[in-house]
Amino acid sequence: MITCIRCTTVNPSTSDTCSQCGADLLPGEGAVSRLVYIALGVFVAVALSGTALLLLTTAAANPVTRWAAPLLISAGVIFMGLAIYAGLYKTPLWQRYAARARRHSDIDAQQALSDYTEALKLAPERDKLGLLEGHLATAEKVGADDIVLPDLLALQPAYAELAKRSSASERSDLAMKQITVFEKLEKAYTKAEDKDKALITHLAYLAWVEEHIEDIISTSPSKDSLTSFITGVPANEQQVIRDFQPRYLLVSQVKDDRTRLVQSGAVAAIGYCAECRQVYRLKASLNCPYNAKHGRLTLVEYVLPQEVALAESRLRQKVSERLKTARAA
Ligand SMILES: [Zn+2]
Ligand SMILES: [Zn+2]
Repeated sequence: MITCIRCTTVNPSTSDTCSQCGADLLPGEGAVSRLVYIALGVFVAVALSGTALLLLTTAAANPVTRWAAPLLISAGVIFMGLAIYAGLYKTPLWQRYAARARRHSDIDAQQALSDYTEALKLAPERDKLGLLEGHLATAEKVGADDIVLPDLLALQPAYAELAKRSSASERSDLAMKQITVFEKLEKAYTKAEDKDKALITHLAYLAWVEEHIEDIISTSPSKDSLTSFITGVPANEQQVIRDFQPRYLLVSQVKDDRTRLVQSGAVAAIGYCAECRQVYRLKASLNCPYNAKHGRLTLVEYVLPQEVALAESRLRQKVSERLKTARAA
């Protein structure tokens, strides 16, 4: 249901105009804000050219006046032009849907959801991320699991893409968002009783954490909150760990988590021994199961138990390709 922005009458979702007052139910930028833009432009333009006139009448001979007056007048003209542009700018349809979606997110989440969907269909690529976040938040609010899952899956690559062209501090914000997406995805799969996908998501999450440790560590403003993120203990309940080393803790947390999964049999690990030239399924340790003196296996991968055979042949392929390139070089 669409609530009229002018008279707050509730209209059916299919209406274009308000049944009570006739107002457009999908309005662009309102007349009032347009008038404000133009008034502001006029005000600035008058102030700038007024100053220029004052200079010309009181100090025409001053050399400063000669360059300052034309400059002030051109600035005034530019301001006026911008104000007129803002006043007459036609609001694109996707922005109108997005505005109505935001307006309805608290009063009618279903309406907000369908407006976000429309906005997403029409918006240019670079504006989609914010809409997708709104779409997801609304879908979560109405409990639309069938929408939450694809939204989360779409957000992951969108954040990753954005992170590529972001500054370090933006990247750490994005890292926190990615972590939330991973957690929600795992929860969504668990809720849908898709154990395999939940596990795969968890493994992907661990790999992602390993790869983005720097971004994650630079996120937390204080040692306490970072400790609590890593240890899962609320900041006010923990004694601050002395010589707290976030990088070390995070790495060992990932390791422990994987070990736990492998030992419980939920996940299998495979790796390559360069001494034996063999791909092995790992047992309790990361060392070569044939001869512990061979040390750690490399190229270790974590997969679902039923995928071991496939993953092993993929790894063998990878190793032989690497050996080939090594020989060629
Ligand atoms: Zn109305
Ligand atoms: Zn070996």
